[in-house]
Amino acid sequence: MTTKPSVKSFDLDALMNSLQGIEAIADPQQVAKLSQDYHTFSPVLTPKLAGKVGDLVVRPANEQEVLKVAATCAKLRVPVTVRGAGTGNYGQCVPLHGGVILDMTKMHEILWVKPGVARVETGVRLAAVDKKAREIGWELRMVPSTYRTATVGGFIAGGSGGIGSIQYGLLGDRGNLLGLKVITLEAEPRIIELRGDDVQKVNHAWGINGIITELEMPLGPAYPWAEVIVTFDEFMTAARFGQALGDADGMIKKLISVFASPIPQYFHALQQYIPEGTHPAFLMVAEPSLEFLPGLVQQYGGRITYQKPAQEAEKGTHLAEFTWNHTTLHARSVDTSITYLQSIFPSDRSLQLVEHMYHHFGDEVMMHLEFFRVKGAVIAGALQLVRYTTEERLNEIIRYHEQQGVMIANPHTYIIEDGGRKVIDPEQLKFKEMVDPYGLMNPGKSKVLELKIHK
Ligand SMILES: Cc1cc2nc3c(=O)[nH]c(=O)nc-3n(C[C@H](O)[C@H](O)[C@H](O)COP(=O)(O)OP(=O)(O)OC[C@H]3O[C@@H](n4cnc5c(N)ncnc54)[C@H](O)[C@@H]3O)c2cc1C
Repeated sequence: MTTKPSVKSFDLDALMNSLQGIEAIADPQQVAKLSQDYHTFSPVLTPKLAGKVGDLVVRPANEQEVLKVAATCAKLRVPVTVRGAGTGNYGQCVPLHGGVILDMTKMHEILWVKPGVARVETGVRLAAVDKKAREIGWELRMVPSTYRTATVGGFIAGGSGGIGSIQYGLLGDRGNLLGLKVITLEAEPRIIELRGDDVQKVNHAWGINGIITELEMPLGPAYPWAEVIVTFDEFMTAARFGQALGDADGMIKKLISVFASPIPQYFHALQQYIPEGTHPAFLMVAEPSLEFLPGLVQQYGGRITYQKPAQEAEKGTHLAEFTWNHTTLHARSVDTSITYLQSIFPSDRSLQLVEHMYHHFGDEVMMHLEFFRVKGAVIAGALQLVRYTTEERLNEIIRYHEQQGVMIANPHTYIIEDGGRKVIDPEQLKFKEMVDPYGLMNPGKSKVLELKIHK
């Protein structure tokens, strides 16, 4: 690691000349637009990232063009921020030091799909892969709630899990990514294929460990998924129902989300199915398992208020698009002062800490649970909605959760180590030194790399 990329220290004309023949966008307004993501959900990040824009957007159409961009940027020492659909939440693809925004969305080929596995170019949208896989009875194991717009590359490099995680765990779990192809940022870029556990060198690396051009994703059997809303009079009963359904291993499900009142008031399209003051669970359950649902609902005193059969999956409202971080999106479309947290509660079927936090913070931190599988156990994660007042108070809320044993993946920082991961895996750092020797990839997003650069 030798050179710290600095703003405008490169020759933009030379860059544009070298990249002739590859689609590029230099119009400042468009470049500014393509330098953004959804960090605007955070009132802390918004001022910090204001005005951070790239100099040029480059849109490669194939591997040869990526190689040419990589070689040119390495020679001219131009920072490179790789971009999928730009739906990331923490300024993951906002360039801190200008340079090239490498928009991967023209590389959207689905290379092949076989039973249980698909190989794709990284700029393809998750929904397109799912659709193709379903033609042979398979589907992506998990997708974020942004599946209609987000790319597979962006999900692997920036996401964590989502709809399907109740069955398959999180993206970082062994086996949820089979292989990938990555291009290095060197004067003579290399193409490296990683398989097996080696994929972790690039998984969730926020685009600092090479340009991923292809991904091999494991698939799950495509069940006919029914969508169901169940409402409860008490929040904790709804939460316990969610845990019980999660623990029912014989029942196949793709989504268990639980919302404390008054969150449902932000779900305009679903108002008629959620009586005021009740606490709903949103579910996606495989139709063959559906027969067992009414019994469990009855056991917890709930009421099924909405049920959409799988054959109508494409029609109308998709429950998934109210869950995970879409809940925050809906809330903010009504009240922009609302922000959120990302938490993992310790494995505990009694949900004691969930109950404590629910009562402790009341309406200031509105509870939104997502159940998913961690190391074989079903646990409660949460993307609580926070009525934001000050950064100091937000940090106090975060600290209180951590002191009580709740893991917070802080969405109010653009520094990798201060978010979910806490430390960058030493294997990822070793790989970084090899694939990005000049520290040009998404610079400024890691504490440890900044330290190395300044040494
Ligand atoms: C409303 C909303 C809901 C969301 N719900 C979820 C959710 O359920 N689960 C979840 O995990 N996330 C969620 N997210 C975050 C985000 O949508 C997902 O992580 C999504 O998969 C990112 O894909 P993208 O194509 O938009 O990536 P981008 O935002 O474009 O990029 C994300 C990161 O990946 C890097 N990157 C992109 N492509 C490549 C590549 N080819 N090679 C190397 N690096 C690359 C970028 O540099 C950046 O650091 C949500 C966000 C919003 C706004």
